[in-house]
This record gives sequence, structure tokens and C-alpha cells, in this order.
Amino acid sequence: MHDEVKNVVIVGSGPAGYTAGIYAARALLKPLIIAGIQPGGQLMLTTEVENFPGFPNGVMGPDLMELMKKQAEKFGAEIIYESVVDIEVGVPAEKIPFKVKTDSGKEFLSWTVIIATGASSKLLGLESERKLLGRGVSTCATCDGAFFKNKRVAVIGGGDSAIEEALFLTKFASEVIIVHRRNKLRASKIMQERAFKNPKISFVWNSVVEDIVDAQKGRVEGLITKDVESGEKKELRVDGVFIAIGHKPNTDFLKGKVQMNEAGYIICKDKSTETSVQGIFAAGDVQDPKYRQAITAAGSGCMAALDAQRFLENLGLID
Ligand code: NAP
Repeated sequence: MHDEVKNVVIVGSGPAGYTAGIYAARALLKPLIIAGIQPGGQLMLTTEVENFPGFPNGVMGPDLMELMKKQAEKFGAEIIYESVVDIEVGVPAEKIPFKVKTDSGKEFLSWTVIIATGASSKLLGLESERKLLGRGVSTCATCDGAFFKNKRVAVIGGGDSAIEEALFLTKFASEVIIVHRRNKLRASKIMQERAFKNPKISFVWNSVVEDIVDAQKGRVEGLITKDVESGEKKELRVDGVFIAIGHKPNTDFLKGKVQMNEAGYIICKDKSTETSVQGIFAAGDVQDPKYRQAITAAGSGCMAALDAQRFLENLGLID
């Protein structure tokens, strides 16, 4: 092992980053986790997580992330709370390490890098939305839908995600109202048909959300919508608001360095976490526009650590 060069730097600290940290630390690779601007990732924005195996009584999202962090630290992962702004690409086969640069100006040399920076749900940008996130405003029906049994909820958006969220929510809610800014859905035809056929789903067309109302009670009570053609404003009484206007992978700092799809998701080689750059691996939502679950992210974090370990072995850098 090289003294000044790290074996593995993990960028990001959601379920993928911490799981990669646990596995890499247990392989005695002494990983460095650079936790990023939102340590703990998207689960820090949720309340109770009921679908993570091993927690039959549920677990609060932030608590789950704290447990994962402790587990990584217990085995020797080092964690720093900074953001990565750039990665200078080395040529590991020639034994030239990567240089990982943070926002405070620190630089770390490493033989491998695991990118686990996740994706962020796009938000509408309203102050009330930020304030009520986790208090009736959600970006994940799978995570929070069960809290809305027999309640009225709104879903914002007109794509496949919005329809999928709305259909899922009909299992719990008494009524699901889709608020869309146009009079035509972007979602695939089959999803549209399912939504149109579902008696619990109705639509508010050509409308944007002007505000989310809580009457100072700290929980969602309704929405103010505005018709984009007439300008008419209406109040819609709902107990929950699901924002489903798309996700954005957190890959801006990697543009031009590793191969990505048009939406900015990192492309991995089939059934692995290998990216287009040898020695850079990607795990979790940053490479997964499809499943986007804490458990799938954790699984791919494990894969990335194993892939990195094997890569280091093949380079003869570890036994
Ligand atoms: P998307 O296709 O980009 O749709 C986003 C929706 O949100 C659009 O209807 C858009 O309106 C609306 N929107 C965007 N910004 C908005 C804003 N600021 N205010 C109000 N509305 C806004 O995103 P997605 O639904 O997350 O899907 C992403 C990709 O994943 C797609 O390729 C999709 O097919 C795929 N996906 C597939 C499935 C499935 O097959 N089961 C499930 C989920 C996602 P406009 O229509 O007016 O642009």
C-alpha cells in the first residue's frame, strides 16, 4: 500500500456511500468518505422508513443514516463533511492516482473513487414547500404514502413518476388529485390509461402551484393553484402533497469526466459499478434512474466496494 495515496475515496454519504464505506473499511482499505452538502442523502428529508428490511417497526430516515454512519466509522472509515468540486482523472493502470478536490481546497490522491452522490428530487422552489417537507410535503410516495390512509392528497407533475406515485397512493388515500401545468400528460400511454381508469384519481389541468397552505399549523392543509391560461387562483384542500416533477442526479462536478446519459446519470457497465473510467465506480441513485430505493442504493454501494477492492488487487496495490 502507498502511504500518501488513499485506496478508495467515497464521494457521498447516502445509503450507497455509507454501505460502500462499511464494506471497504471491513476490507481494511481505510476508505475516506467525503460526505457532501447533504450528509445522509435523501433519507434525511424523510420521516419514517417502513420498507428497509430489518426494521419491522420502521425507522426514522435520519436515524437509519446515523446508524449506517456509525457502522462505517466503527470499522475505520474516515468521514469529512465537505463537498467534492472536481476529480482530476488519473490513469490507474499506469499507477497515476486520481486527485479528488473539495470545496475547502483540500486535495486527496486515491487509486479508486466511488461516486455515490445520489440524485435530488426537483422541487417547485416555494418557501412553504421547503418548510413543510416531511410534514405533508413529500417527494416519495413509496416512503410516505402509508401515512395518508383515507386522506386527500395531491401529486404535482405529469410524467411517469407522477402517475406512478398517484397510482401507488390510491392504495392508501381516499382521493388523489394530479395537478399538472399543461392539459396533456407527458407520461407513457399505458400509465395514462391506468390513471384515467382509476376512480380515485382526478386532475387539475393547466395549473401550477402558487403556494402550499398550513394555516400556521405546521402541517399541509391545502394548495393554492393558479390556472396558467385564465390566471384564476383556487384553493384545493389536501392533507398531503407529493412533488413528482423529476429527479436530477448530482453529477455536475463530473461533466466531461465519466460517461453519462442525457439526463446526467452515470452509465455503468452491465451488472457492475464500473464507469467509463477505470478505477472510478458509481453506486446508488447517481447511476439508477429506475429503482431509486434506499435498499437498492445500499446494495450497489456494497457492489462498488467489492469492485474497487478487486480492482486494487488486480493492480497489485493490495494483497
Ligand atoms: P419527466 O418525464 O421529466 O416529467 C416531469 C413532469 O413534471 C412533466 O410532466 C413536467 O411538465 C412536470 N414539471 C417539470 N418541472 C415542473 C415544474 N417546475 N412545475 C410543474 N411541473 C413541472 O420526469 P419523471 O416523470 O420523473 O420521469 C423521468 C424518466 O423516468 C422518464 O423517462 C420516465 O419515462 C422514466 N420513468 C418511468 C417509469 C415507469 O416506466 N414506470 C416511472 C418513473 C419514471 P411538462 O410535461 O409540462 O414538461
